[in-house]
Amino acid sequence: MFGIYIHIPFCRTACHYCDFHFSTNTQTMEAMEAAVVKELELRIAAEKPDLRQLQSIYFGGGTPSLFTLSGLRALLGRLLPQAPNCREVTLEANPEDVTSDRLKAWLEMGINRLSIGLQSFDQNRLDWMNRQHSAEDAAAAVHLAAEAGFTHISADLIYGLPNRTLSFEDELKQFVALPVDHLSAYILTVEDRTVLGRRVEQGAQAVPEDDAVEAEYRRLCEAMAEAGFEHYEVSNWAKPGGHAVHNQHYWSGLPYWGIGPGAHGFDGARRYANVANNPKYIRALADASNAADVPSVAEALTPTDRYNESLMTGLRTAQGIALTDLENRFGLRPDATEPEAWRRFLNQGILKETGSGVYRIVEPHWVMADAIAAELFVA
Ligand code: SF4
Repeated sequence: MFGIYIHIPFCRTACHYCDFHFSTNTQTMEAMEAAVVKELELRIAAEKPDLRQLQSIYFGGGTPSLFTLSGLRALLGRLLPQAPNCREVTLEANPEDVTSDRLKAWLEMGINRLSIGLQSFDQNRLDWMNRQHSAEDAAAAVHLAAEAGFTHISADLIYGLPNRTLSFEDELKQFVALPVDHLSAYILTVEDRTVLGRRVEQGAQAVPEDDAVEAEYRRLCEAMAEAGFEHYEVSNWAKPGGHAVHNQHYWSGLPYWGIGPGAHGFDGARRYANVANNPKYIRALADASNAADVPSVAEALTPTDRYNESLMTGLRTAQGIALTDLENRFGLRPDATEPEAWRRFLNQGILKETGSGVYRIVEPHWVMADAIAAELFVA
């Protein structure tokens, strides 16, 4: 089984917190369409995949809802007719791009899941983030998508925002009233090369204290449980049947292709990242005659890297980690390699056994999952 991630590197404007790869220069959209379609062809020619093993396709960005319909159609038209087991085709969409015509076209070409970037219902916070949609636009986009026939709709929210003018409680009420079956909620992180990063560095912007952010996370967990969502990963909640196939694919350590500038891929042993520069990517693809000409850097993962990654991804999920599975795959298990930290986490009620030899982090502590996993890493 494998998945395909396709990066669409354009946005209308730059959100002040975002350090993903994107450009606001959309003049090269058509050249990008040709380049991305060509990369897919070159990878198919080089790897001759059995497309019956393709399980999910994910258009991320950037803003995939800005991309040409002809580009999306060409990519999906190349893949889906030979991929009868592809269960999920997700497109990330910003509310301002969601129109009846686009929804109809996306459905017709095989997109069956939308991930809509709502981010917040607090209009002041949306303005502060430099989002291009209003709180009303966001709710209207979700309703329009549901009316058009999308049964799988995910929403993105950001919490831990400073200077709220709408309480988190009111935001949650508005969210659970929407016809969505999935939520991805992320803590606002301050990245260096962003407007927010510069403001924080200059002392012009304060960010909330950790305690306040953790309190919002705990309230989010409670509210989602009350609304019938299963908390299946640190940042992800789903109603029955709404679990994201593509995300679970990443967390299971299965291979996936990364197509497009700035896209990351994994072939089972190696991670690679395509050049995160639109003009360089377009120029290289214009001259490319095989997949090796796609500009990218690769990193081979050692068994220790793989073990640490499995530990991290396992501890971030409700499934947790199975000690015998880790031992069989890597010859390592955290209770043996880091016995002191392991015992401490158990004694403090941070880790609990959920089945024979299967352990997971207790929900309120999930917000610290990365730090907990890091203490158990092998050097
Ligand atoms: S958050 Fe999304 S829409 Fe905003 S700049 Fe980043 S990729 Fe673009």
